[in-house]
Amino acid sequence: MDKQQAEAWHKKTQEIRARYPRLFPRPVGFSCPPAWAEIIEDALRQLEKAAERMGLPDDLYPHITDIKEKYGTLRIYHDDYSPAGDDSFDRIVEEAEARSERTCIVCGEPGNISEGGLWCYCDAHRPAVENDFVL
Ligand SMILES: [Zn+2]
Repeated sequence: MDKQQAEAWHKKTQEIRARYPRLFPRPVGFSCPPAWAEIIEDALRQLEKAAERMGLPDDLYPHITDIKEKYGTLRIYHDDYSPAGDDSFDRIVEEAEARSERTCIVCGEPGNISEGGLWCYCDAHRPAVENDFVL
């Protein structure tokens, strides 16, 4: 990412956090490709809905502690105060992680991880030499 892209991404992460104040009592940086923004927002929307369905008070919503890339996929870490036996939050973040494995990190369109590769690319964006994507 160049400086301009990094600034645009920073601004967008602030906007996303502002839409889910109950999930972000503290600001958290998103250390991941901007192409994952839609996956992240879908997950946040579902987390909020699940917390509403559980009837949790605002201070027991899943508080996001970190959003980052690890081993080429999306990780969303959160404090979990959900009732025992309800794994809705875990399933939501696992689905987001699985989706990041099928989403091109450049454009957000469907793609795949090539044999021995780390990142998911669509055919149009797969570089001749991989591992040159720097956050
Ligand atoms: Zn692409």
